[in-house]
Amino acid sequence: MKKFCYIRFYDRLKSISNKERCIFYFNGKPAIIDIVESLGVPHTEVYLILKNQTIVSIYDWVYPGDFISVFPRMHTFFFDLYKQVLLDPAYPKKIKKEFWNRYQNYRIRQFVADVHLGKLVKYLRFLGVDVLYNSSWDDDELIEISVSNKRILLTQDKGILKNKRVQHGFYIIHRDPEKQLEEFLNYFQIDFKPFTRCSLCNDLLIPITKQDLDNFPIEIPESIKQSYSEFCYCKSCYKVYWEGSHYERLSNFFNKIFGNTT
Ligand SMILES: [Zn+2]
Repeated sequence: MKKFCYIRFYDRLKSISNKERCIFYFNGKPAIIDIVESLGVPHTEVYLILKNQTIVSIYDWVYPGDFISVFPRMHTFFFDLYKQVLLDPAYPKKIKKEFWNRYQNYRIRQFVADVHLGKLVKYLRFLGVDVLYNSSWDDDELIEISVSNKRILLTQDKGILKNKRVQHGFYIIHRDPEKQLEEFLNYFQIDFKPFTRCSLCNDLLIPITKQDLDNFPIEIPESIKQSYSEFCYCKSCYKVYWEGSHYERLSNFFNKIFGNTT
């Protein structure tokens, strides 16, 4: 007789796997995470597994007839659950350790993004989010940066997130950059500092006076200097920023996006 279990995905995992409930047929004794990943959800997306109504590790074995519920990280839900699991003596040490590690991930506010997310990276940098990006980085380099710098890997490639070395990752579901930004804002709670970071190279911006601009290595047109009063520059690439029409357009865009997020 064929062996099977029941799987149910919650919240954004439904979109990532393109399914909510399914019956999964298997041979041998697979670990839960192997089944979940084969259904299209990388391990980095999973924050809680219930097996037959009990919290278990993602590495727990699956037996015929098990009911497996798979949850992503959810803001308030996650913190309440975290406290409950850590304080309850009934939970084994290995589950407490997994929860502790995930709690650490929750606090990470630095990112590295893959080659397909250039526009999202620009938006995030305009909001002051620290995101490394280089269109020439391959998968191995992205993984190395994510692991060694403890940065969350933003990607549209499920394969890279299934790599066991990747501990901090976030799969971007949407293709449209505006939707991607909404998706990010709905998931990460970050204290934004708009217009403090260079959109080209990610370094921080420093205010500069008009007098100092006269001796600056990059020349700014006189008309710009006359029209605007506040300037800042990037200390790495020397790009100069001012509150021109681009600034206004982005401000309006962000107001619209923030208005849509919940
Ligand atoms: Zn720069």
